[in-house]
Amino acid sequence: MYHGSGQWGHWCLCIFEPLLVLLKTAIKAKKHPMSQNFLEFAYFEGGFISFTEAKISIATHAFQYATSASGGMRAIPNPSDPTEILLFRLDRHTARPSSSAKFLQHQISASEIENKIVEFIKINKPTCPIYIRPMVYNSGLGIAPRIHDIEKDFLIYGLEMGDYLSSDGISCRFSSWYRQEDRTLPLRAKVAAAYLTSAMAKTEAVESGFDEAILLNSRGKVSEASAMNIFVVRNGELITPGVNQDILEGITRDSVIVLAEEMGIKVTQREVDKTELYIADEVFLTGTAAKIAPVNRVENILLPKEKPITQKLLQKLTAITLKQDEAYSKWITVIKI
Ligand code: PMP
Repeated sequence: MYHGSGQWGHWCLCIFEPLLVLLKTAIKAKKHPMSQNFLEFAYFEGGFISFTEAKISIATHAFQYATSASGGMRAIPNPSDPTEILLFRLDRHTARPSSSAKFLQHQISASEIENKIVEFIKINKPTCPIYIRPMVYNSGLGIAPRIHDIEKDFLIYGLEMGDYLSSDGISCRFSSWYRQEDRTLPLRAKVAAAYLTSAMAKTEAVESGFDEAILLNSRGKVSEASAMNIFVVRNGELITPGVNQDILEGITRDSVIVLAEEMGIKVTQREVDKTELYIADEVFLTGTAAKIAPVNRVENILLPKEKPITQKLLQKLTAITLKQDEAYSKWITVIKI
């Protein structure tokens, strides 16, 4: 019995118990999937500090009411010169959070966001592809949902990110959740409140054996995936839901439209019916994290294996993001670290 084991047992416990706690903490920290890949420094409350020290109060308004809006962009070391960090369409990726911030009555210019992102990269010196998240949020504490009369702030953090979805192709289901309407949420802004629906749709898809969800809008037309826009190829032409279909106006979507038109592929933005996806020649999703994700299956319908237009666009976009396409070097900002 412990009490009867005398001084020796007591000392053993004094020495080994803290060691055991340390070991357990180390194992836990190692196993935690998210603790490993965040970049070392975050921009928080007006300065650059260690990511692990950037903390908010549990009473933060944005935490309680999703009163925040974010951006999301990739940065990749140039494969032929890793001292160069390549940013894709930085102007668009700073303009969107700036305009999203207007819905929170937070005035922050695109150039202010851009300057901070450049500083963020120079301080963190990434050595692999990363995802950068700038975010504006109601930083004040308090109850009562509102936009006015509450402090705001701006932060940036980043994490290492490889491929978000398999480039071999994915399966999609139609979500039982519908995309919100522009009259209920400012969907052109990347507002946090919209992402509960995205999260539920994604989880429903994954838990029922699919990779991704496709959401219809309240009028029953195809809107977008959980956090990606959607394109359909029919008879050599590209079709995508228009900007009036409650979509987030994706920057990758815009890039694909520009590239396809330049390749001589006709692009139509219009209402898309659910059944068009079943009989499509190709379907793919677009987004910053995944670039272009080919779709192999919609519900129980297999799509053709050959995806020439998807592949052509993916190759083109990949070359551009790696600064290997002179004609589109205007879309790449180089930051020397
Ligand atoms: N829709 C939603 C809801 C998204 O979150 C995203 C990702 N930002 C997209 C579409 C694709 O936009 P982008 O190409 O600008 O990443």
